Order: sequence, then structure tokens, then C-alpha cells
Amino acid sequence: SGPDGNSPFRGLGGLLRENIKRLVPYSSARDEYQGEASVFLDANENAFGSPLDQQFNRYPDPMQFDLKKRITEIKGVPPRNIFIGNGSDEAIDILFRAFCNPGVDNVVLVPPTYGMYEVSANINDIEARKVNLTEDYQLNLEGIAEAIDKNTKLIFICSPNNPTGNSINRDDIQTLLANFSGIVVVDEAYINFSRQKSFIQELTEYSNLVVMQTLSKAWGLAGLRVGMAFASEEIIEVMNKVKPPYNVNESSQQLALAALANVGQVNEWIKETLAQRDRLVLALKDLEFVLDIYPSDANFILVKTTNANGIYDFLVKQGIIVRNRSKVELCEGCLRITIGTPDENTILLETLKTFE
Ligand code: PMP
Repeated sequence: SGPDGNSPFRGLGGLLRENIKRLVPYSSARDEYQGEASVFLDANENAFGSPLDQQFNRYPDPMQFDLKKRITEIKGVPPRNIFIGNGSDEAIDILFRAFCNPGVDNVVLVPPTYGMYEVSANINDIEARKVNLTEDYQLNLEGIAEAIDKNTKLIFICSPNNPTGNSINRDDIQTLLANFSGIVVVDEAYINFSRQKSFIQELTEYSNLVVMQTLSKAWGLAGLRVGMAFASEEIIEVMNKVKPPYNVNESSQQLALAALANVGQVNEWIKETLAQRDRLVLALKDLEFVLDIYPSDANFILVKTTNANGIYDFLVKQGIIVRNRSKVELCEGCLRITIGTPDENTILLETLKTFE
């Protein structure tokens, strides 16, 4: 048993790649300095300034101290349990690089799900064992148990799931956490649109849990590339060791910090998104080529149609882009439609009414 007593979790000793255990992390120029220096001649920066107003001639804080402090206020998770990445896509990749031996280890994915897990696996030469979700887009726990072996390091669960929109049953994720000897990653990119509680509350319960969130969705900051992973101090330490030292740039850190003052605005957008989601679902139901609309806990809906390719091409010609998922297994005939502004949704609905 692992560090939790009854838990089968192997602990990081049994999970980490040997080269990462031995890794001496890059020490950035200012790591050793603590205090009140005023002359910085240590990092080969341009001492004269930057062509822009701000001090972009200086490297950013490698540990994103101020940003983490603010995220702690919002999420209730201490900074030592927070990793910040250049988007959560970077956090995904870092998990592969820290834990999975190329050509040896494997991970379990549960499609249809977010595509980057598999791309990151392929980039890192890690076998992705796929255990499809059930017909109602829930976990096939027996199938997952069969797929796992001693070289399975990570399981990726996306909840609410992209592209299906539903949340994954909490009990099933807890069963995985309690029985898997590796790390369970719960990707909560869309959690702000969900009725479900975040798994952040479970971090103290499970030392093999990584929860990922992002500022790219509800927070409206996809362009800044700021993603977060929440986990045990030990896992976060490893992720910080593997990340490039200045992975979150100065302007992103500053702007994200400023944006995180606007909780009220974001909550308004979330409310409006949910209202527009209801509206779209109701209106789409009336269209004869719409066969089904899956229940969504996210800011998009998966719509099953009689003719996904035809509708997709028709919408493109009218300047409207949705995501065609009809070639994805278990999503045959489906389009994934992001909830837009009221005006955008009106345009979408009016255009769809003219499709024959
Ligand atoms: N996870 C999921 C489920 C997503 O849908 C996305 C974005 N499409 C991401 C992660 C990546 O988010 P980020 O912008 O933080 O890299």
C-alpha cells in the first residue's frame, strides 16, 4: 500500500521516471537572491529598458508568486499545491514528461474526449490505451481496470467532458482514485459552467489526484495562455522541476492577475451562457434534422443530426463555424456548438432554419 495507508497509490517513488528523479532543475538567475537588491546584473537582460512602457526587459517570476496568491484567494488552495502553465496544454505535456517513460509506459484515455491527451501521448512516444465511454458517455470502469497494467502511469478524465458536454459521475472518479496505483488527472476546463462540485475539494483526500483548470474558458483569457494544475505538494514540485523556468510570460502574469479581480463579471457571463444554452437547446429541438441534444454542463452542446457534414458545410458558407465531430466514435452525426452571445446565437438559429 502507498502513502495513504489503504491506498494502492504507488507514491512518486514508484511513478517518476528515473531521469526526473535524478534531474537537477535549471536554476534561474534570481533563485539564490532574496532581499532588496537594486542593481540586477545577473541575467544578461538589457539593462537600458524595453521598447515598451513596461519593464519587459526583465524575466518574469518563474514561480508566479503574485498570481498564485490570488488563485489561492479564489480557490482556497495553497500556492504550494498550484502549478501554473502556458495553458493547461502545457500541464498535460509536463505530466507525460515527468511520469511516462517513452516506449515503455502507457496511459489510459476514455474517448470521446479532449484531443490533446492523445497528441501529447504520441509526441512523448507513450502508448495511449483507449477505453471508450459507455453509450451514455460515462466511464467503463471494468474496461479501464482491464486496460491498466504495471506500466500505466496516468488516467485522463475530462469532466465536464469535451466534446460530449456531460459531467462524469463523481462516484466513478472516486472509485478510480481509490483503486488506481498511478495518477488520475481530472480536467475541469469547463467546471465553471457545471452544476457539479470541483474535485479540488478532494485534494486532501487523494494524493494521486491532479485537477486541471484554465483561464481560457469562463475567464475569457484564452489568448493569455494560463492554465492551472492543483495537486499534492510532491506532484507540484515535480511539475515545477520539469517546466521551462519562465513558462508563463510577464504580460500574461500581469494581465491574468488584473483579470482575476473581475469575479463578478465572470459570474455574469457564466449566468448568461447558461441562459443562452437553455435557449439554444429549446430552439434546436424544433429543427427536423436535429435528432438529439446531449445534456451539457459546459459552454457548448453536442447536437446529433441527420446530416452533420451537410449542415457543417452549409454553415461555413454562411460564415458560421461549428465543430464537426461526426467522424468521432460515439459522436456519429454530431456537431459541437459553442454557446455564443445572444446575437450570435440568433444568427446561428436563423441560418439553421434555412437549411434544407
Ligand atoms: N482541457 C480541455 C478539456 C479543453 O477543452 C481545453 C481547450 N480546448 C484545454 C484543456 C486546453 O486549455 P488551455 O487553453 O488552458 O491550454
